[in-house]
Amino acid sequence: MAKLYFRYGAMGSSKTANILMVRYNYLEKGKKVALLKPDIENRDGKMKIKSRIGLEAECEYVSVFLKRFFSSPYELDAILIDEAQFMSKEEVEKFAYIVDIFEIPVLCYGLRTDFQTKLFPASKRLFELADVIEEIPTICFCGKKAQVNARVVDGKITTQGEQVMMGGNESYISLCRKHYYRGISKKSEE
Ligand SMILES: [Zn+2]
Repeated sequence: MAKLYFRYGAMGSSKTANILMVRYNYLEKGKKVALLKPDIENRDGKMKIKSRIGLEAECEYVSVFLKRFFSSPYELDAILIDEAQFMSKEEVEKFAYIVDIFEIPVLCYGLRTDFQTKLFPASKRLFELADVIEEIPTICFCGKKAQVNARVVDGKITTQGEQVMMGGNESYISLCRKHYYRGISKKSEE
């Protein structure tokens, strides 16, 4: 039976490297795979998924794929989606439908929560619908499990602003809950 997977992790948990390795394993066995990302996610340039360790691959936008697939469904061994938190709830539901009706496994990789510790709408829907939920762990500078994605602007952790900010000068770091709430982003600030 095909399943809907949600593999979530904080920033820096190598989700993209993971998805590219999974894709490679499928391709190596002669399988057909669709590699997708939500339309909103384009910080790596158009139609490409790139990991911090240098792996990259061509991909297709979620909306373009869904339109094409539903107008003319075709055989696939797996659908892999990076940055899945940026999908719409409706898109998550469409992929659940694809799993059930077309029996294609769909593997979604993404963040659980935003920089204010709130669930992304698509992540919430994935927690509600996924058959398999797996955490990809990463650690805070203190060595504890990191579960919060802190937004850093001009070197300081900020908790104000829009859930999704594209092309800004902000960056993100993953912290444990304690260090997030204390506003401490590195060892030297303790
Ligand atoms: Zn910590």
